[in-house]
Parts: sequence; C-alpha cells; structure tokens
Amino acid sequence: MGEKNRLSRRGLLKRGVAAGGAVALSQAPSSLVGGAQAPAVITGRRFRGWVALGNGPGRTTLQELTLKPIGGRQVVVRTEATNLCYSNAGAVLGLPGSGPPPATPVQQQRRMNDLAVIQGHGGVGVVEAVGPEVRRVRVGDRVCVSGTPQCGSCYQCLRGRADVCQFLSRIGADDLIAVAEMRDGTPVYENSHIGGLAELMVTFEEWVVPVFTKATAADLGMVCSCVTVAGLGATVAPTWGALQAGSTVAVVGCGPLGLSAVHGARLGGASRIIGIDPVRMRREAALKLGATHVLDPNVEGAGVVDKVRALSMEGGPGDRYWAGGRDSGGRRSGSGADLVVEAAGVDQVKPKVEAGPDPSGVLPMQQAYQMCATGGHVVTTSLVRGNISLPGTLFSIGGITHHGGQAGGANPMRDIPRFVELLDKGQFNAKVLATRIIPLADMLGAYEEVAYRTTITAIMVI
Ligand SMILES: [Zn+2]
Ligand SMILES: [Zn+2]
Repeated sequence: MGEKNRLSRRGLLKRGVAAGGAVALSQAPSSLVGGAQAPAVITGRRFRGWVALGNGPGRTTLQELTLKPIGGRQVVVRTEATNLCYSNAGAVLGLPGSGPPPATPVQQQRRMNDLAVIQGHGGVGVVEAVGPEVRRVRVGDRVCVSGTPQCGSCYQCLRGRADVCQFLSRIGADDLIAVAEMRDGTPVYENSHIGGLAELMVTFEEWVVPVFTKATAADLGMVCSCVTVAGLGATVAPTWGALQAGSTVAVVGCGPLGLSAVHGARLGGASRIIGIDPVRMRREAALKLGATHVLDPNVEGAGVVDKVRALSMEGGPGDRYWAGGRDSGGRRSGSGADLVVEAAGVDQVKPKVEAGPDPSGVLPMQQAYQMCATGGHVVTTSLVRGNISLPGTLFSIGGITHHGGQAGGANPMRDIPRFVELLDKGQFNAKVLATRIIPLADMLGAYEEVAYRTTITAIMVI
C-alpha cells in the first residue's frame, strides 16, 4: 500500500472531510438523506465573500465568487451573521507578525497565505443545500456554524471532550478544499472549513448545530459566536463542573469572551464576580453583565492577585479553621476565587485604548492561576505568546485544577442550543456584547475597531 493510501488517522479524516464530497451524490440511500432534502448539488451560485490572499495590509478584499458543486457531508449555509473574532484579526488585516500562535504546529505542504481563503471561523445562517450524506440538518434549518466541530464518534467526542474533536485538527492549509472560484478561476478555500465572512458558508455537518429560534440575526450571531460559546462554556457548560452557586468567580480579561464568562458566572449563580481588564469600557460592560467588582490591572499592578484573594474573603472570618472560615492555612493571603476564567491573551496589535500590563498575555495567565483558591478551578481560554512560569510547589500540590481546551470546554451540540435558549428567554443579554453591528461591505473598518479594541466586538449582519 502506497504512502498515499495508508490507513492513517490523518488520511481517514482527510478523505472523510475532503473527498467524501462529490463521490456519492446520487448513490446515498434515501432513508439516510430524508425525503425533504433539496438536491445535493447546486452549481453556479454567485455570492460575495471577503477573500484573503498574500501578505500584509490589503490582503483581504471583497470578491464575487462562484460556488462549486457540493456533495457528501457538505452543508451550504446562507449567512445571517458572523462575529468578528479578535483571533482572526491578524489574518484579515494582514497585521505584521500577527496571527494566533498555533496550538499544535503541524508542517503543512501548502502555505495558507498562498491560498485564496474566505476569512471568518463561525457564523449563523439558514441551510440552503446539503450533501446526500448529511443527517444533522435539513434545508431551511437555522444553524450555528460552530468554531469547533463535533463529529460525535472520534476518541475525544466519545469521552466527552467534543471541544477538542479530532476534526478540529484538520483545518490546516493542506486540509482545506476549494468551495468556490474567483472570476479568474482562482480556487477559493475557507478558514476552518467555515469562511463566515461571506454571503454563503460551505461547511461539513460536523460543524453545524441546528438552532430553533426566532432571535434576530445579530443577537443569534452573538450568542453563537466562538467567544460567547467559550465564555459561557467555561462557566455554565457541564464539562468541568467548576461553577457552583454562591461561589466567587474571577475573570481575567473582559473582552467578549471574558464578558461572556462574567455573564455565565451570573447565570450560574456565582455570588461574587470579579472582572479584571485594563479597558474602562470593558469594565463598565462587566458591571452591566453581573460583575460585583471590577479591577484595573494597571492600577493594581502585581497586587491584583492579593486583591482578588482579599475580595474573596470579604465579609467573612479569615482566621478560622472551623465553621466555614476560609483561611488558606497562612501560606498565602486570603482565600482566592473558586473559579478563575482566564481570557486575556496576546495583543495582536497595540490597542488604541488602555493597554494591559503584558502584551504577550503571559502575565495575566500566571496571575489567573495564582488568584485561584486551594481546591478551585482555573479555565484558560486565550492565546498567549510565550511560556508561562508558575511556582512549582503551588502547581504541584496547590490543589488547583486546571482545565485547558477549546471553546471553554463547550460541547457544541449539547451546549449551544441551551445558550440559544438563554437568549430566547431573555436571560442572555447579547446587546451589551455586540457593540457594533455592520453590513458585509463595512467589515474591514469594523475589524480595525476590533483589532484596536475600540469596540467590545462587532457582528456582521447580512
Ligand atoms: Zn474565534
Ligand atoms: Zn469528534
């Protein structure tokens, strides 16, 4: 068996993702397809999309595109809304030396910047067409195209870690397949098999979550965004089981992800919620979403850890071992937060608002660990540049449980419909987060605002 055909996991996933396409268009058993499905192939459909190609500023332009035939497990979604995620700002704007550091660098044969790629790694919309093997959604369904897929049958999905579904590791340059063509015939690919910054998204069923709601596109786009799913995931998804009613939660970094964690902490019954961010506008938003205290790390300096520890003891005895006294045994000051959600991360570009104390994001991540209570939980969600360093003994026997993963541990098919329910029942306030709502044509300008942090986030509505 040749190298090309060996039964590697990578080969299987690639064939499953990419080649499953056109082969079985007319052969799929109708019992699996369902009688209500539309024809699997739609060709020649024209649509507009923001396509990045090459390097540097100006790499992303609005292009008229022609959809290629679909099949297999592919799903065509007419985009209603897409959140402009900060982690995609570097790729969209061509910022120097930017882009999120890869979590697991895998050598790719192709270079992403040599491909024409529709940017955006999430969105909401309505299913326009499905390949004959698609079972999860039907034409006409409203869906969240989740930033993290969930196949339901890989090793990670089966042990309850759909946030790191193995399909997620197949979004490199070599894994992408062309879904459209530019006017000159250049093949067009999509960021993460999603490409949310376009009038159509062509994805695979592993990435779609049906949501049955009449919410507005902007509100739904916000609650289903990668950042809100991660913030709510870190707090109210059952993956970690780390949030208890009446507890103290600290959120380090109050961008849209951290603010969603503040909101989730409130929804999950936390009694004391401490939001930490250098940007005044974000601290004010944190207070609106349920924070009981906000701290400016530029004011607190290295004392921010002790401040959170002191706040966690506020109003209770700090020097008793019995009857609920929350002394930490004299080894550290105060008690600490029962749950810390870290959501600061690296600055892709110097903010035009208040900058934090460490543009690499390393310091806030270390502080997040150190402000956690003995027996508490730390959920890390951000991308940082560099290595973190912690006191070894604290790390070893400090009694702190660290949870690292994608999307705050959210399991898309299980959790996103519940998050939409929170929106529909008025429990989730999308408006405080979605501070900018813009049409397709204004995407680039809005992305600059996101990159320079002059808005909390922006939602593109089509
Ligand atoms: Zn994102
Ligand atoms: Zn999976």
